[in-house]
This record gives sequence, C-alpha cells and structure tokens, in this order.
Amino acid sequence: MRLEPSGRWHISILVDDDTVKPLPQSEKSVGVDVGIAYLAITSDGEKAENPRHLTKHYKRLRRAQKALSRKMKGSRNREKARRKVAKIHEKIKDSRSDYLHKLTTRLVRENQTVVVEDLSVKGMVRNPKLAKHISDCAWGEFVNQLDYKCQWYGRTLVKVDKWFPSSKLCSSCGHKADSMALDVREWTCPKCGADHDRDINAARNLLAVGHTVTACGASVRLEGHCSREQLRKTRKGKKQEPKS
Ligand SMILES: [Zn+2]
Repeated sequence: MRLEPSGRWHISILVDDDTVKPLPQSEKSVGVDVGIAYLAITSDGEKAENPRHLTKHYKRLRRAQKALSRKMKGSRNREKARRKVAKIHEKIKDSRSDYLHKLTTRLVRENQTVVVEDLSVKGMVRNPKLAKHISDCAWGEFVNQLDYKCQWYGRTLVKVDKWFPSSKLCSSCGHKADSMALDVREWTCPKCGADHDRDINAARNLLAVGHTVTACGASVRLEGHCSREQLRKTRKGKKQEPKS
C-alpha cells in the first residue's frame, strides 16, 4: 500500500489470474502509426483522437502550481496547495490511462498481429517544443500496453525499427520518395499516382513489414521485441539478426 502525493492510497494486489486466456485466432492484422494530432492511425484508416488531457487541464495545473509557489514553506496552506497540484496530476493520469486502455484492448482483441514503429520517445522528448505534446500523447504507455496485452491474449506485437522509412514509401507500389517534410499531410505517388494520407500510408507500410516478418522470419531489422509466439516462429525460419 502506498500513499500518493494527492493523499489517495494506492493498493496493488497481486493476483494469479487465470481468467486471462488467449483469445481465439483472428484473421486480421493491423499497422499502427502514432502521431500528435491523432494518437494512433491504423492501416484500416481509423484515426484515434489524441485525448490531449494535459492540454485540457494545463491551465488549471499552471494556476495551481503558481499558487503553490507563493505559499510559505512549511505552512498548512502550502500543504493544501501541494495536494491540489497533485490531484490535478492524478486526474490527468487517470483519464489518459482509461482512454489508452480502451484503445489498446480493442486493437489487441481485433487483431492477431499488431505492428508499431519502435519510437525513441526519450530522444524526441529532449526537443522541448515537442516535449509537452509527446508526453501528453503517452506513446510509451500505449506501446507498453499493447505489449503486455498481446502476451496475455496470445497476440503478436511487432516493433519495427524506427529507421524504417514508413512515411516515405508508397504503400501501393513501393516507390520511395527522397524526402517527406513533416508538414506534408497528403501526397500523390509520382510513380503510380496513388493518393495517400501520410499517416494511413505509414501505417500500411508498417503492416506490410509486419507481414514480412511473421511470414518468413525477421528479414527486416527489428529491435528484437516479439512475443514468445513470434520468437518461436522466427527461430524456425531464417536466422534473426542480433538485437541492437
Ligand atoms: Zn506508388
């Protein structure tokens, strides 16, 4: 049992839960691209809203933090103000977590294989302009939930190396664009003429790589993060490249 800064008690109970059983096999697989405007964009063309809980609560949080900084150290009012700040943080955490759980559970239930890009979130958070948005999106938590839920339900999570050019490839013909500026949201392939939504196209490319990996062993360099099922499959097939 742990007392949280907000004054709420946190109780963890360890349960050996055998109600979590692998789900029946699904015929479907999905590629998921993560973003800022939308938290997740799937190869099916679905765009999951970024809840932006932090943005919503940000003003309240700032006000509470300022009030706290004005209170005298050691005073009762300071303690009250501190608790208020902690409560807002907690609210943000709760609503974000609830949203993420619903989304990841659905993705894992519906699909046998989920393919995501392996993001170096920490590196990106060092860019201060993007930092607030990115921590708000909680990409790390999103992938983490997909990871353990895939293990629970007998699904496979494939993490594709972040250097794979998912945005630059045409998912229809495989043509690779030389560059793709971040503000290009839609583009037309110069080779086959296909019109692409940037994020959906990227998600489709991720899915295609995921298929390659599950079908013939890891021919694309992966960060070596697979469920047991996936590892068993790849061991039978081609030799996997060593973990980086
Ligand atoms: Zn094309």
